[in-house]
This record gives sequence, structure tokens and C-alpha cells, in this order.
Amino acid sequence: MGRDRYDAIVVGARCAGSPTAMLLARKGYKVLVVDRATFPSDTLSTHILHPPAVEAMQRWGLLDRLVATGCPPIDTYTFDFGPFTLSGAPGTEAAPLTYCPRRTVLDKLLVDAASEAGAEIREEFTVQEIVVDDGRVVGMRGRDKDGATVTERADVVIGADGRNSFVAKTVQPEQYNEKPPLLSGYYTYWSGLPMDGRFDICIRPDRAFGAIPTHDDLTLVIAGWPFEEDEANKHDVEGNYLKVFDLAPEFAERIRGAKREARFAGTAVPNFFRRPYGPGWALVGDAGYNKDFITAQGILDAFRDAELCAAALDRSFSGARSFDEAMAGYQSTRDERVLPMFEFTCQLATLEPPPPDLQQLLAAVHGNQDAMDGFARVNAGVTSPAEFFADENVSRIFAEAQERSSSPAPAG
Ligand SMILES: Cc1cc2nc3c(=O)[nH]c(=O)nc-3n(C[C@H](O)[C@H](O)[C@H](O)COP(=O)(O)OP(=O)(O)OC[C@H]3O[C@@H](n4cnc5c(N)ncnc54)[C@H](O)[C@@H]3O)c2cc1C
Repeated sequence: MGRDRYDAIVVGARCAGSPTAMLLARKGYKVLVVDRATFPSDTLSTHILHPPAVEAMQRWGLLDRLVATGCPPIDTYTFDFGPFTLSGAPGTEAAPLTYCPRRTVLDKLLVDAASEAGAEIREEFTVQEIVVDDGRVVGMRGRDKDGATVTERADVVIGADGRNSFVAKTVQPEQYNEKPPLLSGYYTYWSGLPMDGRFDICIRPDRAFGAIPTHDDLTLVIAGWPFEEDEANKHDVEGNYLKVFDLAPEFAERIRGAKREARFAGTAVPNFFRRPYGPGWALVGDAGYNKDFITAQGILDAFRDAELCAAALDRSFSGARSFDEAMAGYQSTRDERVLPMFEFTCQLATLEPPPPDLQQLLAAVHGNQDAMDGFARVNAGVTSPAEFFADENVSRIFAEAQERSSSPAPAG
């Protein structure tokens, strides 16, 4: 047996686990974080941090450290739909910038912050069993870095162990809003492909790609195709990846002059919500809610979960609320905030051409800077798609387009 009982054991130390542990430890709780990985280490994921995630880093006092790593700031998103390109600012006055830090850098920074807050971190620790007593999770058992089997107990075991969560497999939570994988994406890093503070996205029927600057003067470029095509395409990832850029000749020219600096990585992911709590357990990040990466929301969702879950557990530990009441609030707030983005993301991930009414709307957005900023902010997770696509906003965009087309062109 281990030495002591913990208030919380967090399984997984990346974007969901370390912030959850950090926030609980900052409130004075005794927290153990375990991960089978060591840090710094990479993981299969691109790493766009939209402004709400950057704002969370700022709230936690960690943004200066991120900026000090030399990660280039991004202030503009462009969406090339073929007939036109929308270009807008993704952020707000309070949080104007996006960053795209390598996971080797970001995750290590988060692990260190959890440790500084007082959480105990055990790397190279693989959880092999969730200990259940009389229907309630009471701890976990696993193998530590020396190969010893260790059991630790806690009031709550938090699964921050990703979309294939071992904790979730054990507690078998209700799963809802499920959709199969829709898109396969492959990415790598290029030198000699400057982006000048832009995140460029190109969308065509059955194909999409995105390019964004990251550490070390490299540009991350991800390209995707429908999941049904993956079986045929993955035999020649490089050839099929490069073929995607032919749909945007200017970019194709630029990437031909750049140098690939890493191997290809890629995958496809399922879409689902899981009930994120039960007797003695909770789920945060991808373990509790996962969706396609086309809108790059996973890290900001993990950060939001960390704050919501840590606050709910604090209410429960302090006796202000029962565990069930506090955690039901976590679930309902999470679901309410993310559902419109989940639907928007799943629709986009089909890579089907936008339906005619959406095409008309996007054409009306083109040239209207406020509306283009609004569209960029939807993709950045700043504005809910429900708000942007609300009748009132759509009518306003069409009315402004009408006004632009009927007003005389400026002289000169
Ligand atoms: C191709 C791709 C591109 C993406 N691009 C973006 C993007 O640009 N922006 C964005 O915001 N999101 C992106 N995402 C989503 C993002 O990667 C995830 O949402 C995010 O990593 C979730 O963090 P997490 O902490 O929940 O899980 P993970 O990052 O998956 O971390 C889980 C951790 O749990 C540990 N673990 C698992 N099982 C055990 C066990 N039994 N014992 C001990 N440790 C265990 C693992 O070692 C791992 O470190 C992308 C995802 C993919 C697949």
C-alpha cells in the first residue's frame, strides 16, 4: 500500500490532468498525479491554443512562461473557401492572440505548474486497475517506474487519461451524442514557410488543410480527407498529403519551396460525450468529451473542464454542496457550453460542401470585417456558433451585404 490517502488522484498529466491537479492543489487539497509518460514528451496532436485557452494560461499565471519559450503569436485566421477568403481576428481585446506551442513545451509547463502548486507528480506510472469498494471508486493500482505494484487511495479518482481512458473503461459511464470518426488528418512540420502571424485554413469539398507557425521557426501543416478514404490514402500519406495543396496553387508553390523537418503523424478520432462523474470518480478532457480536431478545440476544452471540475470538487470537498449536486453542475455547464461547437465541428469534419444557405451567408460575410472577425471567433471557440448563426446576426450580415452592394463604389 502507498503511504497516505489523497483528496484526489489524477490519472494523466497533460492538458486536462495537470491544470485540474494544479487548481485543486492551489486550494490546498492533497493531490497525486500519475502518468505513464515522462515529460517533456510529444503526443499525437497538433497544438493550436485559441485565445480562450491563452486567457486561461493568463488566469493561471502561466502565460508569461509560455511567451518566454519564443512561441510566435498569431493574430489573424484566414479561411480560403475557393471563390473567396475570409480573414479575421480570432481574439478579443482581453485575449487577442493565439499560440501554437509544441506539446513538448506546453505539457511540461503544465506539469511543472501542478508540481509547484504542491501536487505530487509520478511519471512513468501506469495505472492498471481502478480500485472499487462497494460500488464506489476508492483508489487505483499501478506499476511505478521501478516496476513495483503500488496502490493509492483517494476521495476521488479523476480520469484525465485521454479519449481511450482506462478510468472510463472501468467505470463505464453513459456515453451520448456519439458519432463515428469523420475525418483523417496528417501533419508534419516545415521550415522555410513563414506565416507572418497567420493561421491559414483552406476548405474544399472532401479536402482541408491548415498551416500555423510554431516554435523553432517551423510551420505546422495538417491536411485531411474523409475518414472513408483513409484506407486507400494511407498507403501513400506523403503523396496524398501533398496532393491536397494542389487545390490552393499559391500555397502549393510556397510549400514546394519549404523543407519538411519531421515525419508524418496522423489519425482519426470518434466523437462522443461521457457522463463525467459517478461515485468516487470524475472525467476531464478527452476522457469525458471528445470531438474531431478540425476546429482544434480539445486543449481549450480540457482547460475549461479543469476549471469547472476543480471548482465542483472544491464545493463538494468543502461541504458546500453534495458531490452529486456539484458534479451535475459541472456536467450541465460543460454540455451547454460545448454542444453548439460539437455540432459545428462534426458538420465541418464531414468535409462536405457547405449547404447553399451557409454558402450565401459566408459570401455575405466576405468583405464585412466585423462579420469576418465574428466568423474567426467562432472557429477560435470565442463566440458560440449558436450566437453567430442566430437569426438576428445572420439577418444583420445579409442587410449589411445588401447595403454594401447598393452603395456606390468609393472613388479612385
Ligand atoms: C491529430 C490531432 C490534432 C489535434 N489538434 C489540436 C489542436 O490543434 N488544438 C487543440 O486544442 N486540440 C487538438 N487536438 C485535441 C487535443 O490533442 C486533446 O483534446 C488534448 O490532448 C486532450 O488532453 P487530455 O489531457 O484530455 O488527454 P491527452 O493529451 O491524451 O493525455 C492523456 C494522458 O494520460 C496518460 N495516460 C493514459 N492512460 C494512462 C494510464 N493507464 N496510466 C497512466 N497514464 C495514462 C497518457 O500517457 C497521456 O499523457 C488534436 C487531436 C488530434 C488527435
